[in-house]
Amino acid sequence: MAEAANILVVDDEKGIREGCRRILTSEGFAVDVAENGKEGLDMAKAKPYDLMLIDLMMPVMGGIELMEQVRQLDPEIIMIVITGFATIETAVDAMKHGAYDYIPKPFAPDQLMAVLNRGLETRRLRLQAEQLRQERDQKLLEIAGEKSKLHTIMNSMADAILVINREHQLVLWNPAALKTLNLAGQVQLGKDIAEVIREKNLIDVISKAFNPDSSQYTMFSEEVEIAEPERKTLIVSVAAVRDEKGQELGIVSTFRDITALKEVEEVKSQFVRMVAHELRAPLAAIEGYLNAYLTGVAGKDPQFNRQMLERARLRSKSLIELVNDLLQFARLESKRAERKKELLDMKEVIESNVELLKNQGDSKDVQFQVDIPDKLPFIEADRAEMDQLMTNLISNAMKYNVKNGKVIVSARPEAHFLHISVADTGIGIEEQCLPCIFDEFYRVRGPKTRYTTGTGLGLSIVKRIVESHFGRIEAESTVDKGTTFTVKLPLRQVDASQ
Ligand code: ADP
Repeated sequence: MAEAANILVVDDEKGIREGCRRILTSEGFAVDVAENGKEGLDMAKAKPYDLMLIDLMMPVMGGIELMEQVRQLDPEIIMIVITGFATIETAVDAMKHGAYDYIPKPFAPDQLMAVLNRGLETRRLRLQAEQLRQERDQKLLEIAGEKSKLHTIMNSMADAILVINREHQLVLWNPAALKTLNLAGQVQLGKDIAEVIREKNLIDVISKAFNPDSSQYTMFSEEVEIAEPERKTLIVSVAAVRDEKGQELGIVSTFRDITALKEVEEVKSQFVRMVAHELRAPLAAIEGYLNAYLTGVAGKDPQFNRQMLERARLRSKSLIELVNDLLQFARLESKRAERKKELLDMKEVIESNVELLKNQGDSKDVQFQVDIPDKLPFIEADRAEMDQLMTNLISNAMKYNVKNGKVIVSARPEAHFLHISVADTGIGIEEQCLPCIFDEFYRVRGPKTRYTTGTGLGLSIVKRIVESHFGRIEAESTVDKGTTFTVKLPLRQVDASQ
């Protein structure tokens, strides 16, 4: 032991006590003495000792009781019994109570030193073993902690992860992998990856990282389409794991499902294609009229030339309408976060819109009827969007009406909603066309609508506005009888409960 060992001598014989103290102090040990078991126990409680020399027969508290109590304090302490009755029985009894060895009285200094040194060596080894055990326990705890951290991270990741060893065997995976790659019931530690994943496209990408020629491929990502169990697009990132010598240990692959993103991308580019298509026809027509006018192909008749220019103006007007609708559309898309909702009295909104449109003059002499109770409960909505919604529905009811037809606008609260309907006595919509009327750029083509201008965006804008206010829109129509659009918007909570 690097430090001098602490030794306590407990003996009621002063001669033994002091004799031991002398011998041991001269050997460089720190020595204390006690004259009975009780005193010895108190001292052992106050200060740690490496070794105790204990007499068996003492007044107040004997050696056996002392040993039992000291063992509770420090299981690794070395206790050597000094006994005047060195019989086999006393030795066995002492050993049973935790004694390391015993020395029969009287003893020579050499005898004492031999037993004592052996005892101290045992103590040193025991302490060392205990320290190692504690270190190992600590390491195990740390490893368990790291493992559970890794587990928690892997389990909570949205991206799927698969780890494969050099032999292409599966060594680690997370719940997202089971879900994204549909592997439930198929994963098993040590199973060949080709048996786990059936999609050839995926196996091909993962295998690339194992290719000995692809040493530059320490990490790469690829987009992969899979067909089973449903069509999905995944971004697969593969990284080879190497040890410090550069030896390949295995591969970590992550899979991110980007199917939804892809769909949005597709919808967007489809929308751009539709817009381009819708812009081209009126622009080509305008160019045609202007060409005919400028090159003189249309002849010199001023009235005919004027007619052509009028047509060009009409087409450019519809182009402006289209651009305005497109702008409104884009605004609705970007407005999601900053929609300004306020308490609105829809009676006032409806009436002012009817007034505005009524006075815009319509060749069909449409009659208006507004059917709204004196007081309507308030709704929480964006004023500008509500104006847009009413304008689009009412102007459609006028546009697709017949001469001397009627437009009836009504509103009433029902359950937790405000029902607003715009009904007309117009041309109606054929049943098979009804499901499409809310689609972007959809217009019913037929002899009755041929001369009505429009963009096909009005109702899709209406639908978006209604949905962004957590409402619903329904359409009912009978050909040659008329159409009714009903918008249902949620009432403000307090009003709804009244
Ligand atoms: P548009 O600019 O063509 O009016 P909308 O999106 O507003 O575009 O409407 C889509 C199509 O639905 C119209 O082209 C028309 O065929 C039909 N439609 C809309 N409202 C009515 C209505 N009140 N009566 C009959 N048909 C209608």
